Amino acid sequence: MTHHVPEGLPGELEHYIGGEFAGSVSGRTFDVLDPVSNTPYVTAAAGQAEDVDRAVAAARTAFTEGPWPRMLPRARARVLNKIADAVEAQDERLAELETFDTGLPITQALGQAQRAAENFRFFADLVVAQADDTYQVPGRQVNYVHRKPVGVAGLITPWNTPFMLESWKLAPALASGCTVVLKPAEFTPLSASLWAGIFAEAGLPPGVFNLVNGFGEEAGDALVKHPDVPLISFTGETTTGQTIYRNCATHLKGMSMELGGKSPAIVFADADLDAAIDSTLFGVFSLNGERCTAGSRILVERPIYDEFCARFAARAANIVVGDPHDPATEVGALVHPEHHDKVMRYVELGKTEGRLLAGGGRPAGLDSGNYVAPTVFADVPPTARIFQEEIFGPVVALTPFDTEAEARSLANGVKYGLAAYLWTSDLQRAHTFAQSVEAGMVWLNSHNVRDLRTPFGGVKASGLGHEGGYRSLGFYTDEQAIHVSLGPVHATRFGSVRKGQS
Ligand code: NAD
Repeated sequence: MTHHVPEGLPGELEHYIGGEFAGSVSGRTFDVLDPVSNTPYVTAAAGQAEDVDRAVAAARTAFTEGPWPRMLPRARARVLNKIADAVEAQDERLAELETFDTGLPITQALGQAQRAAENFRFFADLVVAQADDTYQVPGRQVNYVHRKPVGVAGLITPWNTPFMLESWKLAPALASGCTVVLKPAEFTPLSASLWAGIFAEAGLPPGVFNLVNGFGEEAGDALVKHPDVPLISFTGETTTGQTIYRNCATHLKGMSMELGGKSPAIVFADADLDAAIDSTLFGVFSLNGERCTAGSRILVERPIYDEFCARFAARAANIVVGDPHDPATEVGALVHPEHHDKVMRYVELGKTEGRLLAGGGRPAGLDSGNYVAPTVFADVPPTARIFQEEIFGPVVALTPFDTEAEARSLANGVKYGLAAYLWTSDLQRAHTFAQSVEAGMVWLNSHNVRDLRTPFGGVKASGLGHEGGYRSLGFYTDEQAIHVSLGPVHATRFGSVRKGQS
């Protein structure tokens, strides 16, 4: 098979601190593999506590002394729009690099690059339009909210759609006037290295954006524990989120946590079956199944269960798996051999827990690279591990149900609560069911189409706090209440009566 290697790959990925690229103080580096050849193609600086210290110091200086937090929202928005323009202008190069580094199909990586630009444009608009509350007490007081950026924001991101997910944090943090230290995922540091050039050209002052590469347990941990970083925005696994939550407690840091998922798609017998099959296939197999909101459990009402299984499996078996750089590819290579091994273990486990309908191992003809054939298991009981645990790959569990109550209990019977997808033509049921699902986000008769104004986040083990729209700006800012007296002060006059008099 051909393997496209982008031209002009960097030799080493360094940190970016105070407007300059820098290696680690210790000189340590780590190898980064591409997921098709699984050979190292670049080394990245392995950040330690001392590198995080330097990055936080630069961000702190830019926050306390630099212009960024004090600029008018319109001035910051102009810079954010220039960033969006630059991302759009190089979307194909970005997609090429992202595909090479992550194994995501190139067409989907291109869509993610465009979404990254849109995130900047959206928060540029929002920060200019932002208004804050004023509370009137007629004739006596006016009380208003003064909004201030929190300070140095620590941003920690995962390896699935890395560039887009970084933008989802960078855009609102910068729009709010914070300065930032980004710690991207160690599996996929390539596209993050482009931010420095994009930001500098757009006119972001030095020190506002800082990047430290490295491992979670070292660079990530140091960022979480740093006393000058008052808030952490984290996206990643639930277990990592729990560790970070504990570590944030010492300093009572603000936290936003977007964690794992095992989202259900519930298909009732009255659904538009063609649309439901198209959408549920895309919902679980797009982005290689490495998608937090993947609809990885499909619950199907008994009268259409057999037909759904047969049609879904036939389509899954027909999905084009291959070279991520090929525009015809629908499922590419999983990010890393360790993750590939994990997904393959679940595939083997699934053969003992459900009935294999499609896939079940490596696709024919792809003997190397982190490929997994889109895999469909039917008749999966809710006690199965492949029903309960996040696999984060192209693997789906199908389960039948007989009643709405059973569907609800199956949908809610896992520790996660990120997204849910509901397929029915019964309007009343659509809404009552949607409202009773334990999920932060529900899509009715639709796959995951984002509206950036709506709350994004999960409940239960899927997260803490919701970002999206003004909620994101709320997270990166402190609301200070300022109370102003409009007339004579009516204070009880302590000490006004001379002692001894009554
Ligand atoms: P991960 O938790 O292994 O790593 C995420 C980031 O945390 C990486 O940058 C890593 O280096 C860092 N990290 C690891 N240990 C750390 C520690 N002790 N202290 C500080 N930082 C640490 O997650 P991953 O495997 O990169 O990503 C996949 C996971 O992300 C899946 O569970 C997926 O569902 C989740 N995810 C959630 C959303 C969402 O919005 N809810 C979006 C995308 C991905």
